[in-house]
Amino acid sequence: MNFSCYNCGQTSPSPINYPCSTCGVDISHLDGTSLSDWNQKKWGHHTSLLSGSYIPLHGKDWNCSFDLVGYSKIPKIVEFTLNYGQEFTLTHRGHTNSVFLTFIPEIIGSGVSKHYASLDSHPVSGCCIISPKSLEYGHPFPILHDWVSTTFAGQDSRCTLCGDATQLGITVCWKCYAQHDNDWTKLL
Ligand SMILES: [Zn+2]
Ligand SMILES: [Zn+2]
Repeated sequence: MNFSCYNCGQTSPSPINYPCSTCGVDISHLDGTSLSDWNQKKWGHHTSLLSGSYIPLHGKDWNCSFDLVGYSKIPKIVEFTLNYGQEFTLTHRGHTNSVFLTFIPEIIGSGVSKHYASLDSHPVSGCCIISPKSLEYGHPFPILHDWVSTTFAGQDSRCTLCGDATQLGITVCWKCYAQHDNDWTKLL
């Protein structure tokens, strides 16, 4: 398979490490090291667990927060999602955004939903990146299976490596993870 830069589309037989060697784009607007005011606000919404808070819904149906483990791995999670994530489009308030998402075999945060019987938080192992090319609006956040299966209902997913059909949003299958010691970072 070929991997491609999320910005310039340059392809490579091995995963792209950022900054991209062709166009020079980095991921500092996605990994928290360089955030616009708008990115910063979203960052706060998705890191509430780090300050010991519960996870507020902010008026939405779902919200998730990275936990300390997920937070410490955000640069790798972002690179993994850009390389192995599945691209979808998401329409929100009249805007159509490109998103990449994937699940990894590790818990990286927790999420709540108003669709659940209580506001107990559920573990999350997925990451979604909205509008990765947008320096101002691009941002990553942890995701619940429930949000994925509702938001992208009816679409299919396949393992990036072996092509097997997978559950929606699972872009590397459990067999392929097992071949890499269930350590997703070995795929980068
Ligand atoms: Zn590039
Ligand atoms: Zn596979």
